[in-house]
Amino acid sequence: MSKDLPRKASVVIIGGGVVGCSIAYHLAKLGWSDTVLLERKQLTSGTTWHAAGLIGQLRGSINMTRLARYTSELYLQLEAETGQATGYRQCGSISIATNEERFEELKRNASMAQVFGLQVDVIGREEIKNRYPLISDSDILGGIHIPSDGDGNAVDITQALARGARKRGVQVFQETKVTAIRHDGEKVTGVSTQNGDIDADYVVICGGMWSRDLAASVGVNVPLQACEHYYVLFESVEGLEPGLPVLRDYDACKYYKYDTGKLMVGVFEPTARPWGMDGIPEDFCFDEIAGSFEHMEPVLLEAMQRIPALQTAGIQKFFCGPESFTPDVRYHLGEAPELKNCFVAAGMNSIGLQSAGGIGKVMAEWIRDGHPPEDLWEVDVRRNMPFQGNRKYLRERVSETLGLLYATHWPFRQYETARGVRKSALHDRLVAKGACHGESFGWERPNWYAPAGVKPEYEYSYGRQNWFEHSAAEHQAVRESVGLFDQSSFAKFRLEGRDACRVLNRICANDVDVADGRIVYGQWLNERGGIEADLTVTRLARDCFLIVTAAETEVREWNWLKRHIPADAHCVLTNVSSGMGVISLMGPKSRDLLQSLTPADMSHQAFPFGSSREIELAYALVRASRITFVGELGWELYVPTEFMLGVYDEICSVGEQFGLVHAGYHALNSLRMEKGYRHWGHDITDEDTPLEAGLGFAVKLEKEGGFIGQDALLNQKQRGLERRMLQFRLDDPQPLLYHNEPIWRDDRIVGYISSGAYGHTLGSCIALGYVKRSDQNETEEWVTGKYEIEVAGQRFSAQASLAPMFDPKNEKIRC
Ligand SMILES: Cc1cc2nc3c(=O)[nH]c(=O)nc-3n(C[C@H](O)[C@H](O)[C@H](O)COP(=O)(O)OP(=O)(O)OC[C@H]3O[C@@H](n4cnc5c(N)ncnc54)[C@H](O)[C@@H]3O)c2cc1C
Repeated sequence: MSKDLPRKASVVIIGGGVVGCSIAYHLAKLGWSDTVLLERKQLTSGTTWHAAGLIGQLRGSINMTRLARYTSELYLQLEAETGQATGYRQCGSISIATNEERFEELKRNASMAQVFGLQVDVIGREEIKNRYPLISDSDILGGIHIPSDGDGNAVDITQALARGARKRGVQVFQETKVTAIRHDGEKVTGVSTQNGDIDADYVVICGGMWSRDLAASVGVNVPLQACEHYYVLFESVEGLEPGLPVLRDYDACKYYKYDTGKLMVGVFEPTARPWGMDGIPEDFCFDEIAGSFEHMEPVLLEAMQRIPALQTAGIQKFFCGPESFTPDVRYHLGEAPELKNCFVAAGMNSIGLQSAGGIGKVMAEWIRDGHPPEDLWEVDVRRNMPFQGNRKYLRERVSETLGLLYATHWPFRQYETARGVRKSALHDRLVAKGACHGESFGWERPNWYAPAGVKPEYEYSYGRQNWFEHSAAEHQAVRESVGLFDQSSFAKFRLEGRDACRVLNRICANDVDVADGRIVYGQWLNERGGIEADLTVTRLARDCFLIVTAAETEVREWNWLKRHIPADAHCVLTNVSSGMGVISLMGPKSRDLLQSLTPADMSHQAFPFGSSREIELAYALVRASRITFVGELGWELYVPTEFMLGVYDEICSVGEQFGLVHAGYHALNSLRMEKGYRHWGHDITDEDTPLEAGLGFAVKLEKEGGFIGQDALLNQKQRGLERRMLQFRLDDPQPLLYHNEPIWRDDRIVGYISSGAYGHTLGSCIALGYVKRSDQNETEEWVTGKYEIEVAGQRFSAQASLAPMFDPKNEKIRC
């Protein structure tokens, strides 16, 4: 044991890059000075030392922009606080658009930025030229200017964070490689290093591109893979001025940054080159990698068109370094579901410097409180599926995701790589029907069906895409006859045993102690009353429950349930997702169709809404559950996987008589929006309560025995709500809403759209979003006032409603 290395610490942070140092700094600021940071070589010697230094604030979502914005505010005052220079300067940034769609994206982002007061100015070509005289502007339509964006020196910022941490008592050890993470099978207990062991309550993996393998050594899944990442420094650039803002030319996947007398050109090429597939050299320390000049040459030639002064400048440095990328270009943050008190902050996708401040803050609070301080689902490590650690998958996917940083973030954009990973038993049949599949956590799912003569391929746009009318026809068929949805991707768990009911009733806010064969819709809450899960529970028998939830929350909800089963409870949890496919038949003719195929009595009296039972269908015994996510009469059919094809074929054999239409997830989304059904992850998250979300009907507030989150809800009910989810309908049928659009009430921003879609029955865009209580009057008069939704800088009037605008009395469902 080295004499310096302590035997015990509250927190051990593995990795001395900007992320690890920021977490150490923020933990120390919270008073957790009993923190040790271990770095295998020297601080910043992994990826951080060669970060280009861009520190932008505007990201694709509100929560990520919040993190980046905090980072920028932190860096602004870090030098004054720590005495360590950071090189941080607010030079501003300009992003340009060379086509209308990109301009629309930038304008939509500028609108979103207003929600939290970030100044983003939409500017024209002339102003761009004035602010950036070196630019060739003939093809530029316009852009945005963010005056408070900046750049800084990654090494100095990291050192400043480390100094700030040390000042508050954190111990930093360099040349100390963690050789093992220790645990007792349930939670971490510490680490081993070549200099000795440290016992710890928490371990935080911030090992950059090393994180995947380090985490895998203790069964934790952190899917990331390093890729080559390039920039080039040009010297003697005529007309170069230090005051130039950072310039982002997204359409050409490049940025330009003034760098101590030189101009740096950085690249996010569409097809990247994964690096280190066979492992990272043990002695890697402040290393560059060879890269490929041929790979970059065409990109550099393009750069010379945009900045003609580069044609006569010299290349001072051609740089290539490795950086971690993830399958969905989002970081991995939070407590690993596989191992308690093992936290992860890795997979920075080339924005680690501009994110590290915010990440440090939320990670420190997460460790302190045992839960994320705000909704961080999009970057939560629990979103990852086990298969995503597969190296073939990662290699293919990251070659695409690097470029996605600068690619247009089209609505409904689909990945092109690593496809066909998880397929329903019906997959090939549905392809033959014209399905255009989208991908969701590996699952191929029909999003829409192309009629004969139409290619099942996306043509992206911010306006109506090529599938709009086809999906409208599917929507209409569900409203008027019957639609077939393949929802096999649902995650399905069985909880059984004599304590199953008691255990589940403590976790569910609704009452699941119901008669056998009843389906209960409801939420799982945290102690703060926030919604951790939104799902259905079906009582199969006295001691057996089927839990059905969305594909994307499989790991999260499994983990939540598992961690809340008391050690002495008699119940067993099994994941049966792969064993069952799901065919949903939805629409007014669904009963007639099913009745024509089964001897079971499907009448309303015999098979009421909210009930579930096994019926004979084709050669199978199928669990039919009368429930809906589209607001129509319908059944979800849970079919053992090996019977799926037979059941499907039987349904299709009679389909025509009943007007059966295959329908995809885009139609599903439009239908559920009209009915105001909330979607977990967008409309409801762990920071929204059921009362705020308008889901109080699914909560048994006075339930005997109580439930997790009960006190928080009772308190909230007594206090009154500060915010409430409303449904909106635009008066103008033309604009399209997706999410994050600001909501105006009486000329003030009071919230933003959590999800939006065109409602084909209601005839314009429908959306959901929380609005703040009006401070003019202290009442909960949520829907009074003049509502408008802002799209790309333009405000459109909207109707607001607490009740669903489609079939508010549920007459179509309960018939
Ligand atoms: C060319 C290039 C340009 C970039 N430009 C920008 C930019 O302009 N803006 C921006 O925001 N981001 C940029 N980035 C990305 C940014 O540099 C990274 O996202 C960030 O530095 C990642 O920080 P990190 O702390 O996660 O990883 P790292 O800096 O790699 O730190 C991880 C550390 O963990 C240590 N470690 C690993 N295993 C162990 C172990 N077992 N025991 C002890 N220590 C261990 C490593 O030695 C390493 O020092 C750029 C990246 C590249 C490659």
